[in-house]
Amino acid sequence: MPELPEVESLRRDLAATIVGRTVRTVELTVPKLFASPSGLELGHLVGRQVLDLKRRAKLLIWEFDQDLTLVMHLKLTGQLVHFKASGEELAHGGHPVPSWGAPLPHKATHLTFTFDDDSILYMTDIRQFARFYLLHDSELTPFLKVQKYGPEPLTAKFTRAYLLEKLGRRGLPIKTVLLDQSMIAGIGNIYADESLWRSKIHPLRPASSLTREEVIRLHGAIRNVLDYAVREGVAFVPAGKAFSDRDFPYCHGREGQACFRCGKLILKDWVNARGTYWCPRCQKLEPRRRVIRSLEMEAAPSLA
Ligand SMILES: [Zn+2]
Repeated sequence: MPELPEVESLRRDLAATIVGRTVRTVELTVPKLFASPSGLELGHLVGRQVLDLKRRAKLLIWEFDQDLTLVMHLKLTGQLVHFKASGEELAHGGHPVPSWGAPLPHKATHLTFTFDDDSILYMTDIRQFARFYLLHDSELTPFLKVQKYGPEPLTAKFTRAYLLEKLGRRGLPIKTVLLDQSMIAGIGNIYADESLWRSKIHPLRPASSLTREEVIRLHGAIRNVLDYAVREGVAFVPAGKAFSDRDFPYCHGREGQACFRCGKLILKDWVNARGTYWCPRCQKLEPRRRVIRSLEMEAAPSLA
């Protein structure tokens, strides 16, 4: 699923090519992908100008003139590709299924926009989980409220104090808590693993067992990992195997490969049905309890 960095980099690229354009035609071939709480239809976008492109969590939010807002969630396998009339690609993002460069449109292309400069935008989604919601502007805030998103991790609202307070109350594994969108918006499987590897925290540690120092380290790691991915280009992990022209991602998708920090082989297991990767040397499970237990064992003979 496209996570915060993927959606944010798509937003940036697409904003440069599409803001200011006016919709000439719009066609949807799979009606179930579209909904509008107030009965608007996609056809209402014809003749409307794109004023801005924003993001909240993993949602792409299109602001049009005349009181219309289109919210897109690409879900697991949605992708957007914007072409010039000449066929030259202007921007792309989302999930590369079947692969980037596949001729478009194809049978999984479900939404097509054409614009006043003859450019074309294709949305393809092989699994058909993507969703589009057309709203009046005033409906956006209540719509987002229902989603119950936590703070954006790259904004000032995501503070150390916030993370300390929230994690202190949760006994679930830290990996599971990081994926909870009401805790932090936009983190998915890849960036949860990367943040935990970077901060040297085992994914199964109960969130409330983290020390203050560990939470502060994790807070910094989340920001660094997401910021790096947004700036430098995003992770590509087809079929669970990391593929990149650089070392990133450092941990996710690298089962059986040497940890970049210590050389130990990266392990994989399932946490809440999500493939989870970690280094067994850098990321110890309950290191503090282990120390206490060994101290107790040493003390045992004298107590007897
Ligand atoms: Zn390691």
